[in-house]
Amino acid sequence: MASKRGKDDYSGVPQKKIRLKTDVDFPTFPERLLNKTTSSLYRIIAASDACYTLTALKICNCNAGDIEKGNLFSNAHCSVLPIAPAHVFGSVFEVGIDILLDYLHSEKIPRIRLMWDLLKMLVEYLSDTESQAVLENTAPNCGESDLAMLLTNHLFSLLAFVPDYKVNKDTMVTSCPCQIQECISKENHGDTSIGNEKVWHGRVDILFDDAVIVEPVHESVEESLENEHISETKWHVSFNKEHIIAETIVNSFLQKNLEPDEISLIPCIGVTKTDLIFYFYDSTFDVLLESLKVPILVGRVGHYKVNMDAILTSWLVINTRYLSNGLTEAMRAKKADFFAQTRSKLAVYQENLKIGGIGAPHQTRMSCVEVDNTDPIRQRNRKLFDIMKNECLNRNTSEVKYF
Ligand SMILES: [Zn+2]
Repeated sequence: MASKRGKDDYSGVPQKKIRLKTDVDFPTFPERLLNKTTSSLYRIIAASDACYTLTALKICNCNAGDIEKGNLFSNAHCSVLPIAPAHVFGSVFEVGIDILLDYLHSEKIPRIRLMWDLLKMLVEYLSDTESQAVLENTAPNCGESDLAMLLTNHLFSLLAFVPDYKVNKDTMVTSCPCQIQECISKENHGDTSIGNEKVWHGRVDILFDDAVIVEPVHESVEESLENEHISETKWHVSFNKEHIIAETIVNSFLQKNLEPDEISLIPCIGVTKTDLIFYFYDSTFDVLLESLKVPILVGRVGHYKVNMDAILTSWLVINTRYLSNGLTEAMRAKKADFFAQTRSKLAVYQENLKIGGIGAPHQTRMSCVEVDNTDPIRQRNRKLFDIMKNECLNRNTSEVKYF
């Protein structure tokens, strides 16, 4: 298992000046996996029928800028449309892919300590059949929440440079479904709330290093009502996409506030019962990206194996801060239009987001007491007054009441 470390281990020391005297400690790459790893890299960086892609999304409307109240992530509304063409998944991970390619091609090991550590963690995981066996044996029986917890303990945290994470105990089981004592005894629940009560906010399910969200994706199958003239029944698979997009966007603004000098492309990892799906938002360029699904296991019942594609994409995404080069020029032009959608609330996203201690949604009750004197219907007042006056005279009373 990879050793636990925090990023503060390197604080105060310029990263580029840390050079290793020896590569003796570097693990040996499992040669039997060379073909598998290169095939997987091909699917990540080359445009082919089987490649993984990232698609930019344009927000058509959403309630992120609701002026009357802030909305919880669970009440987030966000309609999106894809912006063609899609991009290959590796477009935003040139740094990480170059490290891995140099290693596979020429056995070149990074000289920068941070990158040396990251590559070492990946190579160790590829050889870690024990951790992979836990996934292969347990994942097929898990729902999406349990699977998110399982992957957090037996994949993401073993690949993450900073493996610390917090779990929202109100929505997640805090113990790992693997039933291994080391996992069961972990105390990892905490306050995972992010945002601001005036805008989108709430508790995310799992928060890595206070920076990367892991969220179970709850899929449901719905009957299509699109075309009544088609006799065959059509079905859609829908999921809590709006919820996940809202969390991704809020977290990106939050991370930009917390770490203004770091890359502003921030990921969110969605976990279905069988796949990973990645979302990214860049709060500098206002670009939202969605990946294709990456299967977690491959093979057949009783003989499942952890998918190499899931390992490599997870390694890249959980370490986006270190392994991403940010958006390409073409991606930067594909605006999500979140800035335009939020208008007067944009300043809250850019300047006033918080982590932890988020309260109930803020509501602004707005009412108007002044009445327009030019409303044409008000000219009927004279007639009403005459009716009331006559009515009073008929009753022999001098009292005239006005509405
Ligand atoms: Zn476990």
